Amino acid sequence: MATSLCDSCVALCCRYFALQIDRPKKAADYDNIRWYLVHDNVVVFIEKGKWFLAVLNKCKHLQPDNRCGIYETRPRICRDYTTDNCEYHSIEYDYEQIFTSAEQLVAYANEQLGHSMIYKPRAPRKVARAKIVKGKKRVRLKVV
Ligand code: SF4
Ligand code: SF4
Repeated sequence: MATSLCDSCVALCCRYFALQIDRPKKAADYDNIRWYLVHDNVVVFIEKGKWFLAVLNKCKHLQPDNRCGIYETRPRICRDYTTDNCEYHSIEYDYEQIFTSAEQLVAYANEQLGHSMIYKPRAPRKVARAKIVKGKKRVRLKVV
């Protein structure tokens, strides 16, 4: 039986998945990404100007011997993946920026936006009351 590169690999490509996400433009966008990063085993990275969310979580079908437990019926994305440019060749990823914590993202976002990205709920507005006289009738107005 022919051997493949995968035979000598610990299945690096089966231990995470990454999805492209929209590039954040405003504080609310960064805040959504911050929400991703407050979860365990999540990183966000920028590669060639594109933003990605990566979940560092191994596939449920990865066997203790690093083989696929559903090889014959594995998802197409796994079938289409090749060893040509895979993680085996280098764990030096091409990303320009990686965020492994919410704090790193906040620092980056604050710099990009030129102000704090952190959402602060507004204090409840005080309701000022004013009395005016309309004709002979007193009317109470709420000024908000
Ligand atoms: S495709 Fe690459 S990273 Fe995935 S198991 Fe094979 S050699 Fe390892
Ligand atoms: S289905 Fe198989 S090939 Fe695909 S990620 Fe899981 S273990 Fe790897």
